[in-house]
Amino acid sequence: MSLDAILIACVVAAVLALVVGGALGWAASRLPPATDRLVEHIEALLPQTQCAQCGYPGCRPYAEAIARGEVEIDRCPPGGDAPVRALAALFDREPRALDPAYGRPDQGALVAWIDEARCIGCARCLPVCPVDAIVGAPRHMHTVVAERCTGCELCLAPCPVDCIELRPVHSNRHRWHRAA
Ligand code: SF4
Ligand code: SF4
Repeated sequence: MSLDAILIACVVAAVLALVVGGALGWAASRLPPATDRLVEHIEALLPQTQCAQCGYPGCRPYAEAIARGEVEIDRCPPGGDAPVRALAALFDREPRALDPAYGRPDQGALVAWIDEARCIGCARCLPVCPVDAIVGAPRHMHTVVAERCTGCELCLAPCPVDCIELRPVHSNRHRWHRAA
């Protein structure tokens, strides 16, 4: 093989390497960082109730803290044991029970119920509901759309007359839609 041919082959190989390297670099820059993908994956395993019972202001911040290794995977009461088992599998760890400090996994699904006779229509419960499950107008009674409620308890504290309580969900094919 002549020297020219060897030189041409080297140049072609170098150009090819540059092009492929550039393409891979561009592709890598388009992909979300590994941590973001991990956060997405963790968040997808959480029940999206945004209830803050884990001590974080929503499922995403909790997923980010887990991804950073800051917090344990056993703090999500609404999801019960299922998310804990799924997260343990994701991290190749032994499953563990839900931390009772954050709730009882055996309490079953709950929804909020407003005693409409006692409601004074102050509307303080409306803005705290992360899923807009409460309907009502100022100075009129308010009520909960049970099909939307996740049982996150966030509306209990702001109610000045304590007319909101959590009740077990009596599943029937018309009402039960949230994944167990
Ligand atoms: S109605 Fe109350 S318990 Fe139900 S999702 Fe809204 S804030 Fe949470
Ligand atoms: S906070 Fe209580 S009293 Fe006020 S509107 Fe809601 S349910 Fe009614």
